[in-house]
Amino acid sequence: MLILKRGMRKLLQAVVIFLTPVLPLAAQGIPPNPPPRPAASSPVPDSAALSREALVWLAQLIQINTTNPPGNEQAAAKYVAGILEKEGITPEVLEVAPGRSAVVARLRNSAISDPSRALLLVAHMDVVGAERARWTVDPFGAVMKDGYIYGRGALDDKAMLAANLATIVALKRSNAHLNRDVIFLATDDEEAGGEASIRTLIARNWDKFAAGYALNEGGEVVAKNGKVQFVAVQASEKVSVNVAVIAKGPSGHASIPTKDNAVVHLAAAVAKIGTYSAPVHFTAVVRRYFEGLAAISDDEIAKWMRSLESSDRAEHAQRVIAETNPEWGAMMRDTIAPTMLSAGVRANVIPGEARATLNIRLLPGDTIDVLLGALTKLVNDPQVRLEVQPNAGLAAPTSSLESDFYAVINKVAFQDFGGAPVLPYQSPWATDSSQLRLHNVQAYGLWPFPVTDEDLKRMHGDDERLPVASFNKGIEVLLHIVSDFAVTK
Ligand SMILES: [Zn+2]
Repeated sequence: MLILKRGMRKLLQAVVIFLTPVLPLAAQGIPPNPPPRPAASSPVPDSAALSREALVWLAQLIQINTTNPPGNEQAAAKYVAGILEKEGITPEVLEVAPGRSAVVARLRNSAISDPSRALLLVAHMDVVGAERARWTVDPFGAVMKDGYIYGRGALDDKAMLAANLATIVALKRSNAHLNRDVIFLATDDEEAGGEASIRTLIARNWDKFAAGYALNEGGEVVAKNGKVQFVAVQASEKVSVNVAVIAKGPSGHASIPTKDNAVVHLAAAVAKIGTYSAPVHFTAVVRRYFEGLAAISDDEIAKWMRSLESSDRAEHAQRVIAETNPEWGAMMRDTIAPTMLSAGVRANVIPGEARATLNIRLLPGDTIDVLLGALTKLVNDPQVRLEVQPNAGLAAPTSSLESDFYAVINKVAFQDFGGAPVLPYQSPWATDSSQLRLHNVQAYGLWPFPVTDEDLKRMHGDDERLPVASFNKGIEVLLHIVSDFAVTK
């Protein structure tokens, strides 16, 4: 332990503060240095300096609009590469598609790399769109207000990107003695998972970032009333598949309607699909998640969490759990969300076709064909067909809950978050980790910033924001995890 602390101090003593003249932030009143914390409460005595730099990076990354589509991540890639270059870490900007790039950089532990031992730190640079009119601040302004940094990407995923940067920069500045390569990877096109995504990057450039272990977004540190309730470490994820519902019918004059109107048939099909509940399956990760959660939940809900698979009470328990928290419901079964509708070109013309898009999230191990079979039977309409759309996700193996890296994440998270339980997690959402898991990477998701449920809900929503204090804490935790796993003590 003592050796660990000495290593850590050395690591951080070397962190040099440099002043970056970023006027917008200063003008917005970025808080001055946070008050120094007593050394005993933090094994990283001067992480505040590093966090301040990283907050500037985060703000500037938010200000680079990487809304996907079109993504335009090349601008962010160049910015990230510039920071790495300044630190003497040679980055490679890999063009994946015109205007769309990824960045990779490596700290070596020896002249000859051993990819099976290497640790990959991953974050994506693109963000989902923002409906400006619904925000109270400019979504790309990186506005600082009430101790928060606001902006599209403040949660997903530019905070992690900035924290990964801070981590690799800290390792480099301290000349840390690594026991494995540490690789930094900033990806593009994560949100759409399209042609420019990590799938293409792996196909073309796997040798540049091949690793045995990875840390990515995907898990959460859930806080309430200023205290971390639990830490969820993502070890597997659901699989996203888009399905088109296509209704056909004769087109014609709207003044003489008939019963085979495609819009009516589509609406009826979507309404039926909306009532469908897929069968419940529990994966090993989800079982362990609910076991852990029951131990820290109120008696009433804990009782139902413990009855999820009991022979006589399962059905009721599953309903109570899903109604209490839709995310819990989504962890137990395949889900279907109708998300888009389109039909018609004129108010007075009956269209020959009407379409809806279903965003389906499959449990790992479930197949789309089985679900489509059930839905087709339910819809039971020869005018309607279901069609799987391109870029469907692929089911990946679950990362091991017995690996050395998982043990380190658990230990550090438990210590750094005041003894909060650390639970394995199967996220309802998809991340780049599934592609990594398909390449034998033990990839884990831990987005290390403590946030409330209320703030988590702003992810992909309006007024996305991150408490600056949580950002700082997350950097500290990330640095501890990476140091523990990759720095020779
Ligand atoms: Zn994300």
